[in-house]
Amino acid sequence: MPEPKALSTELIHHAYQPPAGFAAPQPGVYKASTVIFPNVAALQARNWKDKTGYTYGLHGTPTTFLLEERIAALEGGRHTLLVPSGLAAITLVDLALLKSGDEVLIPDNAYGPGKDLARQELSRWGITHRFYDPADAAALDAMIGPQTRLLWLEAAGSVTMEFPDLRALVRVARARGVLTALDNTWGAGVAFNAFALGDGLGVDISAHALTKYPSGGGDVLMGSVTTRDHELHLRLKATHMRMGWGVGVNDVEAVLRALPSLPLRYAAQDAAGRTLARWCAQQPQIVQVLHPALPASPGHAHWARLCTQAAGLFSVHFDPALPSEAVHAFVDALKLFKLGYSWAGPVSLVVPYELALLRPGTPWRGTLVRFSLGLEDVRDLQADLQQALQSVQALRSGA
Ligand SMILES: *Cc1c(COP(=O)(O)O)cnc(C)c1O
Repeated sequence: MPEPKALSTELIHHAYQPPAGFAAPQPGVYKASTVIFPNVAALQARNWKDKTGYTYGLHGTPTTFLLEERIAALEGGRHTLLVPSGLAAITLVDLALLKSGDEVLIPDNAYGPGKDLARQELSRWGITHRFYDPADAAALDAMIGPQTRLLWLEAAGSVTMEFPDLRALVRVARARGVLTALDNTWGAGVAFNAFALGDGLGVDISAHALTKYPSGGGDVLMGSVTTRDHELHLRLKATHMRMGWGVGVNDVEAVLRALPSLPLRYAAQDAAGRTLARWCAQQPQIVQVLHPALPASPGHAHWARLCTQAAGLFSVHFDPALPSEAVHAFVDALKLFKLGYSWAGPVSLVVPYELALLRPGTPWRGTLVRFSLGLEDVRDLQADLQQALQSVQALRSGA
């Protein structure tokens, strides 16, 4: 019989251990900053760089290791690091792989805050950047110089949804010895395998906003960085550790819970997205629908060669003759589509973008409206679009 201790001590150092072997559909949730070592030898022997043991909450718990392994499997990679947001995944790749004097090339239709990171932050560290046209692999080849260290890729492009010839872009980078990093949020590991694009080609790194499909709830911010190459993973991991970018275990639990339904949600939102994209293409106020699965959308042939599935996202280009106020009135008239950023959650969302601000380097002008599909019934969503278009039409004819 162990000697009784003071109550406060007893409540912390209680002798009871629950029996091992508990199994349930959802994995256990382990929360820790401190990890307890059995002895000094263990404390000295454990290495934060691998998953054979635990050292500190920031470097991993059983819960975070599990999500890392599942994201690596989702994406066809081997090693994954978790970071606090999708944007932090982009930041981690940039900071781990670039130094003063280096250049990074970014597609001109890339996720906007990633472009701002290069403009406003990397520039202060002496890292230069240029934006390239992802539809022109030959022009990209001509841009690569001795300082070019990293090529970002995105498929489809943010908001304007052009689908690039990923293989051609990766081939150019590989021939010139430049590392490739794909923002894989749109494909989510479902639409295509970023590490096996065909013809022996694959990206070196995949960054993913787990905030979108893997979370699926519109309630979690998280990102991941996945690689196949162990050395490259260790470079990323060293920076990850020094930056102190840990993730909250409650958030990891939420993503683990949503992950099994990811392929089903992806397919459902894809089907709804295509139905509404095709319907929008019939409407007279809309001059173009941007969705890679639609034959008239830029890069459709590249999408069709690599994918059969698409994210539940599309943008519509309103007739430039319509003033932006009319487009804003349309957006405000929507009832089920809510106005807000992000996507892949249960609620359908809409955001208007001014092309002059979004893509100043292109001749594109006017207002674009991006829709992301939630999980509502598609007939109700179509009726919502219809009533909003009608109310704008009424406004216009009344004017
Ligand atoms: C949302 C998004 C991100 C950023 O993710 P956050 O978690 O919101 O920081 C990055 N890239 C793409 C393509 C995205 O859609």
